[in-house]
Amino acid sequence: MSTLRFKMVEQAINRKAIPVPHPAERPADYYGIQVFNEEKMRKYLPAKSYDALLRTMRHGTPLSRETAESVAAGMKQWAMEMGATHYTHWFQPLTGGTAEKHDAFIEHDGRGGIIEELSGKLLIQQEPDASSFPNGGIRNTFEARGYSAWDATSPAFIVGTTLCIPTIFIAYTGEALDFKAPLLRALHAVDEAATAVCRMFDPAVNKVFSYLGWEQEYFLVDESLWAARPDLVLTGRTLMGHESAKNQQLEDHYFGSIPSRVLAFMKDLEYACLRLGIPVKTRHNEVAPNQFELAPVFEETNLANDHNQLLLSTIREVARKHCFRCLLHEKPFKGINGSGKHNNWSLGTDTGVNLLSPGKTPHDNLQFVTFLVNILMAVYRYNGLLKASVMSATNAHRLGANEAPPAIISVFLGSQLSRVLDSIETSTSEETIVMDGKSGFRLSGIAHIPELLLDNTDRNRTSPFAFTGNRFEFRAVGSSDNCADAMITLNSAVAAQLTEFKQEVEKETAAGLSTEKAIFTVLKRYIKTCKPIRFDGNGYSDEWKVEAARRGLDTETSVPLIFDRLIEPRSIEMFAGTGVLSSVELHARAEVKLETYTKKIQIEARVLGDLAMNHILPVASRYQSMLLDKVSKFSEIFGSDEAGELAEQDRELIIKLAGHMKAVQRQVEEMVEARKVANRIENERDKAIAYHDTIAPMLESIRYHIDKLELIVDNEMWPLPKYRELLFLR
Ligand code: ADP
Ligand code: MG
Repeated sequence: MSTLRFKMVEQAINRKAIPVPHPAERPADYYGIQVFNEEKMRKYLPAKSYDALLRTMRHGTPLSRETAESVAAGMKQWAMEMGATHYTHWFQPLTGGTAEKHDAFIEHDGRGGIIEELSGKLLIQQEPDASSFPNGGIRNTFEARGYSAWDATSPAFIVGTTLCIPTIFIAYTGEALDFKAPLLRALHAVDEAATAVCRMFDPAVNKVFSYLGWEQEYFLVDESLWAARPDLVLTGRTLMGHESAKNQQLEDHYFGSIPSRVLAFMKDLEYACLRLGIPVKTRHNEVAPNQFELAPVFEETNLANDHNQLLLSTIREVARKHCFRCLLHEKPFKGINGSGKHNNWSLGTDTGVNLLSPGKTPHDNLQFVTFLVNILMAVYRYNGLLKASVMSATNAHRLGANEAPPAIISVFLGSQLSRVLDSIETSTSEETIVMDGKSGFRLSGIAHIPELLLDNTDRNRTSPFAFTGNRFEFRAVGSSDNCADAMITLNSAVAAQLTEFKQEVEKETAAGLSTEKAIFTVLKRYIKTCKPIRFDGNGYSDEWKVEAARRGLDTETSVPLIFDRLIEPRSIEMFAGTGVLSSVELHARAEVKLETYTKKIQIEARVLGDLAMNHILPVASRYQSMLLDKVSKFSEIFGSDEAGELAEQDRELIIKLAGHMKAVQRQVEEMVEARKVANRIENERDKAIAYHDTIAPMLESIRYHIDKLELIVDNEMWPLPKYRELLFLR
């Protein structure tokens, strides 16, 4: 009898919500209390340093050594008053998580004692011994130096008793080894390119910001049940488990009332987030049982991404406090929805205009259509690359799995905007276009586009990249991903596209057209070119796969082959042109992605092999021998003829068990052999292809037989918590 499992289930059932002492203050009182924000800078820095730091934060002006010293002193004083004893450069290596190495604020005082110190030099730059982070071959062991350097645009914060200083992480030779450095470059590129285009409409614009509002989905599982599932512990997902009789069919979880134990966790999490300056706003149940979502108010992209990274560590910690484990894997459970991280994205000017919000005047509307069409062009031209930016071993379970966006990137605009673009496409620049419908959209002459009232309701949940009224929502991003990957690609592609657009408009004006007519002419051309990317239909359907291939969109589904997009000549050219990633950096990133893919499947294969051989088969054998025992006792007592009839069902079960057990054992052996072959392959791409083509399908097939065994073997003997327990106990 599997006492462990029942003990765990009992524990989970008896667990009550941990009462969270409700802070007496209002959120405004504790919001950002752990952040060295502008308010604290003003308080702890001399006026001159404060002004200099603000200039650096807002305009990227280099910080003098003297200012750095003074900022470090002020920051240290604040941190120590908050109880901090250590500081760390907090960075985002290509592993996908965040990295930190804590140092105490202590230095020799030169008289045999110590003083508490944080120098400007240590604030600005450090050389963590970080030779073990993935670097895709950029750093050889003989030159394994990596530097972390302060990103002054993202404020320092305190976690526990450690002052965390957001930094980029680069190699000795200057190549980026992290997500933040290229993200900052991409944001700079899109700022420059978009500002230049904005100035064609409004010379007062000096800066364009990229905004990101992420919606984080996650699962919660009781910690004791989690601990009894080695697959969850080691791989983050269940490698086996038969569907529960009740799943999400009734859709009774989505937006349902939040269970009290979960609510206590959420309140605690929100409190922790708000103290860290993460402006969390929305919480609700998601579609799958035990699945939830959290979303903040959108922020400038670099800060928003830091906040998402910080959330991922905070959510894990708070979950543990409440005896939950937070599953951030894209597909922890088969047969029910997986988790994504919708990236709501927009561009806005320093004059306060959202460039993706249709304006009130014809002039604003032409600007809106200009940005809209250029974004369509960028997504069209780099649709394969965008897919590569969000693809991974874990997200592959979700994309294309009839619940999340397909593994084809397309854009949903909605009927109203589609009509607008269609009419621009077919119009001559002199005519007046009158649209029907409640919007009364009119395009008179060239730019006389009256107010667009966008119908927010026509949304399409199956689209990976959807326009939602005043922003685009990139929905293919995985729940465990660093959003930066998607944001680097999207912002760079849009930057490259806008730069090209401006050049084409200038060509037209040089040929004698007015600026407005030139813009109109180029846009018309673009609308025709990028038409294949527009798709408002059902993205989950099989017809769409066929249609998308016909349209020439990227329909590749093999993860390792999708990574080829990163190093295609046109990708290299685009990233080099925008100054975001060099060819060396791109090759390194592709290599890291391939390596990570292989390792993840390798670990899953090992864990599944172990579970199959040491947990499942022994139990199935025991159950089978119980049945055999019974059958032989039947014949002892009743004689073989009568017993033959009496034991018919038992015999059937014994044979069924034998079939599945044999299949599991044989396939595990085959998988071990296939792994040995794959592991001998030197080339990372070929190795990943071997893991994708041969080993990944074996995981599925072994699982199939184990899940059948789960249906036959006595429930009391089954060693692992079942789906109905994992997903419904909280
Ligand atoms: P949904 O209806 O898609 O579930 P939510 O309200 O849960 O919407 O989340 C939407 C996210 O989009 C939030 O983070 C919100 O702040 C963000 N958002 C809203 N407007 C913009 C914008 N202009 N740019 C970027 N993000 C935005
Ligand atoms: Mg959304």
